[in-house]
Amino acid sequence: MAEPLTVTVPDIGDFGDVPVIEVLVAPGDRVDVETPLVTLESDKATMDVPSPRAGTVESVLIAVGDTVSEGALLITLTPDAASMPQSAPKADTGAAAAGSSEPDSKRAPAPLPGSLPERSADIEADVVVLGAGPGGYTAAFRAADLGLRTVLVERYPTLGGVCLNVGCIPSKALLHTAAVIDGAGAMAAHGVEFGPPSINLAKLAGWKDKVVGRLTRGLAGLAKQRKVEVIQGAGTFSSPYRLSVETPDGTTEIGFERAIIAAGSQAVEIPGFPNHDPRLMDSTDALVLDDVPERLLVIGGGIIGLEMATVYAALGSRVSVVELMDGLIPGCDRDLVKPLEQRIRTRYESILLSTRVTGISPEDTGLRVSFESTEENGDAPAEETFDRVLVAVGRRPNGDRIGAGNAGVHVDEHGFIPADRQQRTNVDHIFAIGDIAGSPMLAHKATHEGKVAAEVCAGHKASFDALAIPSVAYTDPEVAWTGLTETAAREQGVEFDKAAFPWAASGRALGIGRSEGLTKVLFDKETGRLLGAGIVGPHAGDLIAEATLAIEMGADARDIGLTIHPHPTLSETINFAAEMVDGTITDLYVPRRGK
Ligand code: NAD
Repeated sequence: MAEPLTVTVPDIGDFGDVPVIEVLVAPGDRVDVETPLVTLESDKATMDVPSPRAGTVESVLIAVGDTVSEGALLITLTPDAASMPQSAPKADTGAAAAGSSEPDSKRAPAPLPGSLPERSADIEADVVVLGAGPGGYTAAFRAADLGLRTVLVERYPTLGGVCLNVGCIPSKALLHTAAVIDGAGAMAAHGVEFGPPSINLAKLAGWKDKVVGRLTRGLAGLAKQRKVEVIQGAGTFSSPYRLSVETPDGTTEIGFERAIIAAGSQAVEIPGFPNHDPRLMDSTDALVLDDVPERLLVIGGGIIGLEMATVYAALGSRVSVVELMDGLIPGCDRDLVKPLEQRIRTRYESILLSTRVTGISPEDTGLRVSFESTEENGDAPAEETFDRVLVAVGRRPNGDRIGAGNAGVHVDEHGFIPADRQQRTNVDHIFAIGDIAGSPMLAHKATHEGKVAAEVCAGHKASFDALAIPSVAYTDPEVAWTGLTETAAREQGVEFDKAAFPWAASGRALGIGRSEGLTKVLFDKETGRLLGAGIVGPHAGDLIAEATLAIEMGADARDIGLTIHPHPTLSETINFAAEMVDGTITDLYVPRRGK
């Protein structure tokens, strides 16, 4: 088969940033020499860019509304073996654009206008996967299992990405430690007293690193078993069919039929802060556990900020949290956040809501932080000094760090690479998954998308059609939700039947001394199906899986209520909440509902 060629915007005179007003072909279309491919419009003229060769359109790299200049990639085309080369844009109106763009049938056949010669590659792949986080390694492994020659490119020496190396896994290892410390302390109220913990920080960090090491080595083994070729280095696209990887031994060129972009996200830095001061940490720094600061300020009351606050508070830091919005974990229903907030208010030094940090100045004694209230008559605290500050104000996708433009892949203004339900980007043979493809930035969403992308690459009719993506804050108590939140349901005018089962009525919750929990379910008023659920309490993150399955299975309250749940477990709270809606609950007295 002939090598695909790329068609670019030819010389269009003095015009730059010209809008695409029409895309006249789609992937799979047959075109002849001179068939118009796209229409551009300057302020003087509209002009068609004709096909330089007869062949089949492989991918369309632009969309209506994009602006392009000379040299911008438009489409890729697999030319017919014997097709004639040609040509340049044809102006329908206006002399200015036409001057340099009239077709020139006398032009020499080579080099082809609008086409880029492809360099020979060091490695050829059916699928190249860029980024080996949970999305990327899953996609690569699935693609290999489906028989595709797969190359996995990863910047760092270990596989697993942020999640395994400096995110979900190490933080959960430390959160377990925090839970044991806090749990031991809580035993005093049950008549069992332990002394204060003696913490060997180096040993704790070593144990956490061991957990990470086991997993990342396991991934390397899984890659080897599947014959996935792993290339270490930073990859950037050099064309729609080439990836250049800067490896420790020089540049490796990978030629591919399909690519899956899984290049993730990075922590947002706040400009103007002393970001190079080691006392100012992002989540990666915070997981290193250099020391346990006496006073820690966490900027951002989202999931990362609150999880790391949980760890450091248990290790002995006096923790303050400052959050821009008027509540912690924006995006989660307030009734689910409340038990967490109540608990940490008694344990942390302060929780500052509707407050912004206006400046941080490094001093010998610590980081001096100034605050400002975001409310009109709100009062922000005076300047305070902290030993360390953790910035956890969100993550930015890495879309603009991978040369996406060279492959014609559209990156939005936030750095996301939009993808459709088959995970395809605007370029038909290039896919995007995980954090880089859009929110929520969650590992389990990425793995699911990775499987879809790999299966589509292998010709399967897969698509991302999950009804619910669970979210979990592994704080103490944990907060978990799935499907539609109550807040979103109200905003969208969705009618629902709701029940919230208080854990104070759960024997198991009382037995573990955690009666503050709550399990909430929302059922569609019309269909009776579960729309969403939220749980706050220990192990909420594990419990939410049942509700997610129920949503996927279209379960109604009776389905859940008539499913025998083991007693005594926290899982019964989902059963009880469903029974409350069904009107059959006996573990609580709910007047007027009996059927
Ligand atoms: P986030 O968006 O969840 O929370 C950031 C918080 O910072 C928000 O509450 C926001 O209002 C606040 N904020 C923003 N700017 C601020 C400022 N200048 N001052 C004070 N507060 C400010 O982001 P995150 O916690 O950094 O997490 C990043 C991503 O990673 C999220 O998508 C999150 O879901 C994901 N993540 C998930 C898990 C998990 O599943 N357990 C764990 C870690 C991270």
